[in-house]
Amino acid sequence: MAQYHQFDALVVGAGGAGLMSALYASKAVKTAVISKLYPTRSHTGTAQGGIAAALGNMEPDKWEWHAYDTVKGGDFLSDQDAVDILCREAIDAVIDLEHMGLPFDRTREGKISQRRFGGHTNNETKQPVMRACHAADRTGHMILQTLYQQCIKNDVRFFDEFQMVDLIIEDNTCRGVVAVELRTGEMHVFHAKAVMLATGGFGKMWRITSNAHSLTGDGPSIILQHNLPLEDMEFFQFHPTGIYRMGILLSEAARGEGAVFINGKGERFMTRYAPTMKDLASRDVCSRSIYKEVRAGNGVNGKDYVYMDFRPDQINKYFEADGSPRRVDAAYIEQRLPDILEFVRVYMGIDPISEPVPIQPTAHYAMGGIPTDLDARVLADEKGTVVNGLFAAGEVACVSVHGANRLGTNSLVDLVVYGRRGGVAMADYAKQAQFLPIAQNAHEAAEAAMNNLRNNHGKEKAGQIRKDLQMHMDENVGVFRTRAGLEMAIEEIHGYQARYKNLHIDDTGLRWNTDLMEAWELGNLLSLAEVTAISALARTESRGAHYREDYPNRDDQNFLKHSLTWTNGQQRIAYKPVHMGRYEPTERKY
Ligand SMILES: Cc1cc2nc3c(=O)[nH]c(=O)nc-3n(C[C@H](O)[C@H](O)[C@H](O)COP(=O)(O)OP(=O)(O)OC[C@H]3O[C@@H](n4cnc5c(N)ncnc54)[C@H](O)[C@@H]3O)c2cc1C
Repeated sequence: MAQYHQFDALVVGAGGAGLMSALYASKAVKTAVISKLYPTRSHTGTAQGGIAAALGNMEPDKWEWHAYDTVKGGDFLSDQDAVDILCREAIDAVIDLEHMGLPFDRTREGKISQRRFGGHTNNETKQPVMRACHAADRTGHMILQTLYQQCIKNDVRFFDEFQMVDLIIEDNTCRGVVAVELRTGEMHVFHAKAVMLATGGFGKMWRITSNAHSLTGDGPSIILQHNLPLEDMEFFQFHPTGIYRMGILLSEAARGEGAVFINGKGERFMTRYAPTMKDLASRDVCSRSIYKEVRAGNGVNGKDYVYMDFRPDQINKYFEADGSPRRVDAAYIEQRLPDILEFVRVYMGIDPISEPVPIQPTAHYAMGGIPTDLDARVLADEKGTVVNGLFAAGEVACVSVHGANRLGTNSLVDLVVYGRRGGVAMADYAKQAQFLPIAQNAHEAAEAAMNNLRNNHGKEKAGQIRKDLQMHMDENVGVFRTRAGLEMAIEEIHGYQARYKNLHIDDTGLRWNTDLMEAWELGNLLSLAEVTAISALARTESRGAHYREDYPNRDDQNFLKHSLTWTNGQQRIAYKPVHMGRYEPTERKY
């Protein structure tokens, strides 16, 4: 037996996207949120740098410049109608957050303070523009706290530490969700008219990653199981500045404040790869440049890392060399980047004010995900068929605004803009829809899958398979890709999937069975790794974050299109056109 609940709108995930959509849905219909983590522990809380909006508080800016930067950053794969909405509504969405009480940093005149970030420019001068609104380097934390308070105030019902393990979809209509209550191991059925998937990213496929332990792609994996496709899965962003060996993120805000990359010879190498934007070129460009330096033997001590230099006297020298009048001192850096400095001090035992910091690219952000339309409705195929009652927003979704590569600070704005649109669309849908019947045994398939895992007496350990998968993904499905490497990856992943059938779980109990849930999550990571490698193999060009050494050029003739990949049952890849607009593809120069 499963416990039964009924809500008009049900949101899965309590990060920025989930909370924003729950808040807006709850203004009109009875709304609940289920989340495997306590809401304010969601990954959104770790976002440091800021949220982009062309407020123009510090210097001239326009949302059209923001739109162009986003499309160019996305290597022209972004859907330009979706980008226009993102950048136009960003302004109002940030003011909306301000009115909810979000404590942004302020200028002297009391306006929201803004800083520079990679790829964001004044389109006329081509120079970096201050567009990222921030609350010190804790912007995501503040967004999460603010939205959570607002949801509580608006009577959103929270089911904390409930993990979705299946969707109930019949006749192309979503009717609810099956979840496990982690505290008891009991199954729950949530009957709903509209379901929003806001389960976040899935960077745990890789070993060196900025992503939290919980980012295992449960939502998109369940989508695949229901014979629905995922979009643009070959595009996964590697952020250039992870702490060496750990992958913990050091926000681009550091470079926005003046920090630069230097190689093992002490050279500021980005001036060679991106003469205009230099260290603030887009992330794909910076990550590849770092590895090119490493391959040329310019890593620190011949190893696979370089430095990020935060030393104020050095930063001032770089400003001087660039002809910039800006100057910084230690107090300024401490005030603008408190958490980042603390991470380096705690995790590396290094003081960034006096020593350069070892960094390497880290798996960071999924540009691909669950295909949606402009109102966050989930799409079933390349023709744009809508799955009734099913919505997706945030990192898990692909609308697609980020195209082949996301600009920094554009995720937080995606969460609030498309979270809000999705919440409104869910409520509108739920107001006119009926509760459709669900079978008595709707939870049984998921329950049986859990029981199989729990009672399996195989020889394999989930932790070991996960480690092997992550090592292999770093090696063959990372910053640089080749046909041979990707083919090997697919074969390896199929091998891990075979080993996965032979698992052994130590904990056979029901309560707080993290052993079981992590094993279940590994199954999801394996599905997502498979779909990533398959779509990467099929895209024989280089664009944005997807770099094929055997096809180093962008190929607009054949690949200016989104991929949709199905892996369950019959494997299939289809393509659909990019929604073009004002901007024609040009060569990307930074
Ligand atoms: C370290 C770091 C720093 C970043 N900095 C920035 C930045 O400065 N600016 C920017 O724009 N972007 C930044 N990003 C990216 C951005 O933070 C994320 O893309 C964004 O926060 C994702 O939000 P989300 O709401 O989609 O999901 P998340 O915040 O990841 O939340 C996912 C939610 O889904 C729930 N969930 C998952 N699976 C299940 C399940 N099976 N059942 C129930 N619940 C489930 C979780 O409990 C959680 O509540 C950063 C990312 C990282 C990792």
